[in-house]
Amino acid sequence: MNIPLVDLKAQYARIQPDIDAAMAKVLAETDFIMGKAVKDFEAAFADFLQVKRVVGVSNGTDALHLTLLALGVGAGDEVITTPHTFIATVEPIIQRGARPVFVDIDPATFNLNPALLEAAITPRTRAIMPVHLYGQPADMRAILEIADRHGIPVIEDAAQAHGAEYQGKRIGNWGRAACFSFYPGKNLGAYGDAGGIATNDEDLANKIAKLRNHGRMTKYEHEIVGYGNRLDTLQAAVLLAKLPYLEEWTEARRRHAAYYDEMLKGIPGLMRPAVQADTRHVYHLYVIRLEDAAKRDALLDHLTQAGIGAGIHYPVPLHLQPALTHLGYQHGDFPETERAAVSIISLPMYPELEIDQLNMIVEEISQFIGVLKGA
Ligand SMILES: *Cc1c(COP(=O)(O)O)cnc(C)c1O
Repeated sequence: MNIPLVDLKAQYARIQPDIDAAMAKVLAETDFIMGKAVKDFEAAFADFLQVKRVVGVSNGTDALHLTLLALGVGAGDEVITTPHTFIATVEPIIQRGARPVFVDIDPATFNLNPALLEAAITPRTRAIMPVHLYGQPADMRAILEIADRHGIPVIEDAAQAHGAEYQGKRIGNWGRAACFSFYPGKNLGAYGDAGGIATNDEDLANKIAKLRNHGRMTKYEHEIVGYGNRLDTLQAAVLLAKLPYLEEWTEARRRHAAYYDEMLKGIPGLMRPAVQADTRHVYHLYVIRLEDAAKRDALLDHLTQAGIGAGIHYPVPLHLQPALTHLGYQHGDFPETERAAVSIISLPMYPELEIDQLNMIVEEISQFIGVLKGA
């Protein structure tokens, strides 16, 4: 048996008629650029999130970039974020000429630790960018309390958090804007690159909508210099066809997580994901942690050899990435992030996982820990 980390083929097999019909319609109408499905998806996803506006763009990275640009982040500014995330969280900050300033994570949730946030704020801080990592909301109440006190906007990196909730409200409603990725493997994924910005700020939405499409007012009248960062109609049509399934898929992810939790309980030295009270974790990833980091790579090898597609998200903290050495950070600057990077493993997680697959994964993990225990 082969169990991938994510199985997009299993999903397509279930919804093929919906997807094929949605794509065929776009092909027949040839409205490939800013076609009807773009507007329809924006409205449908805004309704899903219970926000005023969603602006569809080319991908999640561009969603962050356009939001930073629209909020006036530029040369010499600082943006506070976490070093335990995908590099796309910080690339847009650097592209604006601004500097990413890292704050270490809370080791329980892997999200930005609000207790360390205030000390990182300087007169140059122009935005705070928490990431809802693995699908678990960051501690928005604590982050917003500090941000509001300093008058700094919060931009959420919601690339892994479609449908996640914090204190009863969907992610997308907490900061000035929340940036989503619809990369194929995300909880709501297109069949190519796609992204979107959710906001309750109409002016900000209008500004981003203009920026994504060459600063256009009409076809050849350009109010500002913008970008070619539109959401493709074909991708919007795929997303619109998939959106009605998202709740069902999220519930399946949560069931699988609860099953992992139950089955992995009591395995010595293995820590299961901690979920913050009053949040809905949507388990983009199910990430366990080994108390003894020295065993991590061996467990990963063991699972890989058993045909189980485990992964590490993320093995190299951003402050230690070769591309970011110019920021001047060192080993030891963010100890919790560095400890997480060497001790975590992401287990297979996707809605179509079956019980015998989950059992096999748990069996292999128990066997590995048992073998080491006896050795
Ligand atoms: C996927 C992802 C992004 C980037 O999204 P793309 O659509 O691939 O550009 C940004 N941040 C995080 C945390 C992500 O997981």
